[in-house]
Amino acid sequence: MPRRILVTSALPYANGAIHLGHLVEYIQTDIWVRFQKMRGHEAYYVCADDTHGTPIMLRAEQEGITPQQLIARVLEEHQRDFAGFHVGFDNYYSTDSPENRAFCEDIYAGLEREGLIARRPVEQFYDPVKEMFLPDRYIKGKCPKCGAADQYGDACEVCGSAYSPTDLVDPYSVVSGAKPVRRSSEHYFFRLSDSRCQRFLKEWTRSGALQPEAANKLDEWLAAGLQDWDISRDPPYFGFAIPGTGGKKFFYVWLDAPVGYFASFRNLCDKRTAAGAPLDPDAFLRPGGGTEMVHFIGKDILYFHALFWPAMLQFSGYRTPSSVNAHGFLTVNGEKMSKSRGTFITAESYLALGLNPEWLRYYYAAKLNATMEDIDLSLDDFVARVNSDLVGKYVNIASRAAGFIRQHFDGRLEPVADRERFAAEFPGILSGGGASAELFERREYGKALRLAMLGAEAVNQFFDQHQPWALAKDPTKHAELHHVCTSALNAFRLLTISLKPVLPKLAAEVEDFLAVPPLTWADAGTLLPAGHRVRPYRHLMARLERKQIDALVDANRESMAAPPSQQRHAEHQVHTAAKTVAEVAAKATPASAPKAPPSAAISIDDFAKLDLRVAKIVKAEHVEGADKLVKLTLDIGTETRTVFAGIKSAYDPAQLEGRLTVMVANLAPRKMRFGTSEGMILAASGEGPGVFLIGPDAGAVPGMKVK
Ligand SMILES: [Zn+2]
Repeated sequence: MPRRILVTSALPYANGAIHLGHLVEYIQTDIWVRFQKMRGHEAYYVCADDTHGTPIMLRAEQEGITPQQLIARVLEEHQRDFAGFHVGFDNYYSTDSPENRAFCEDIYAGLEREGLIARRPVEQFYDPVKEMFLPDRYIKGKCPKCGAADQYGDACEVCGSAYSPTDLVDPYSVVSGAKPVRRSSEHYFFRLSDSRCQRFLKEWTRSGALQPEAANKLDEWLAAGLQDWDISRDPPYFGFAIPGTGGKKFFYVWLDAPVGYFASFRNLCDKRTAAGAPLDPDAFLRPGGGTEMVHFIGKDILYFHALFWPAMLQFSGYRTPSSVNAHGFLTVNGEKMSKSRGTFITAESYLALGLNPEWLRYYYAAKLNATMEDIDLSLDDFVARVNSDLVGKYVNIASRAAGFIRQHFDGRLEPVADRERFAAEFPGILSGGGASAELFERREYGKALRLAMLGAEAVNQFFDQHQPWALAKDPTKHAELHHVCTSALNAFRLLTISLKPVLPKLAAEVEDFLAVPPLTWADAGTLLPAGHRVRPYRHLMARLERKQIDALVDANRESMAAPPSQQRHAEHQVHTAAKTVAEVAAKATPASAPKAPPSAAISIDDFAKLDLRVAKIVKAEHVEGADKLVKLTLDIGTETRTVFAGIKSAYDPAQLEGRLTVMVANLAPRKMRFGTSEGMILAASGEGPGVFLIGPDAGAVPGMKVK
């Protein structure tokens, strides 16, 4: 019986570029969907851009466009990048859609009917200049633990402490720089603490929909007791107004984002139905339709997908997920992706440099399993694995056999198709379709690919043993040559079936070369017909060169701008001593040193990595549109550098020209809104207001090393 499956990947947020970290999930999901379709099941893969919320609203404002213009542009970029990596969505849509609004309103009405919506006041930080409530990430201040300046409202990036925004010392709004005030407002809550929700979730968690480690995590959360979930936000907010509030309350973006799965599917159903191939949304979105709904997500959003989402659906009359599959994060060379190391790699740059997307699909698949473990993209291993497995083992079979078949047999296979003989030669390959299918079904892609590569190794060994190049020289041995090449091509075709979900484009080229219709799992265990004629072989896949990877890393090291959510406030990050409007306003207070003790010890080698130079400020200029930055032209003896420094609150640019200071000369250039900053100057700051530029004693000259 064919299964009917609705499959989703988490919705990417519409304010940034798709990068290799995102692609783990889309490639993982795409492989699973392609596999299901090859098995003859009816699977629909839908996704959408997640378009609402404060970051989108502010980013659009900063760019001087409407949120709708911003999300339309990003939608195009995202679709281009996904298509570039052969991610085959059946529909890609937007959460800012009429379908999504209708589902959100209906789900909300359902929860309200069940008595699961509560209203109560919440006290939050409010920006009195911008006239808006501030999400945690839009409040900065000094870390209450270590005193580090410019830390976010939820956690300190210097000492790692977590705290609430109300704990920050000297908080300021990163939107306007104003000192936020506490203000109360009525919020709407989904009453997850209700015993019905708790009971349902306890049961659902153990229904088999979750991976064991995810179910254990849920048990912990459930044991700790669930809090009601705040689902409303006050205007100004880019999103959907909550019905009945007169536009005074909006659905929090995290409420409408997963509902976007439904909206995208509904939109697909309408398009199919209009095209004369009716698809009934209710069969997939309401209980009892005999269908499955399978979500792929990152482990960081398990809370939303395994608690909020099923409970929302259960109590508003919709179906609950059949499974939620969480994967781990991507590391590159064993570390978090990093802009300064050039390992924060965008999908666009990978494609623009001409790297084959199927190399990455293969590598990810080889690393993926059914757990939430992180997966590592080791760049050396990436090069080695692609070249050894795909080029050296798999594609090599076709390129070795095809020449003889063409040259000696006019492209035709043996006049007999001897299944028993083939089964004796390659037992694992002829019967391997079942084992491979079972592994793909369970998302054990790494194991499925190892199976295929073992098969490919066996074929290459078979080829070597029979020495077709020697057989070709002896006309009496041409029948054997014909057989060896026929067996190799049959094995190649069967291996292609189990690689096709991972390598769809390459598989299409193989189908063309073999002159066969698109391969499905039904073809596993069968051989090509006797005397079948293949087409001339064309080169199927190039080797991945190390220099291509180096170029990719270089491109991302230089060209990455700050992530969009931070772009607006890049001024704050130029320089550890960047000062704030709040502090300028408090200038009456005398300066004082932070009370925090010095940081943990580093080695002399760590210190030696810093190239500190005496620099002469030859030019200091105001920066149009930046209220904290001064653009400095620095002479360091051998060259001049441009540095943007957040010192405008303390220095008039005119006073700076001709002064000597100290700069970090080997800091990676940083692209900012106003230009590229090629280093950093040193300044002191403490708990009170004021920034104090560091300068050498008389006699120092530009370019001297500071040690
Ligand atoms: Zn701290």
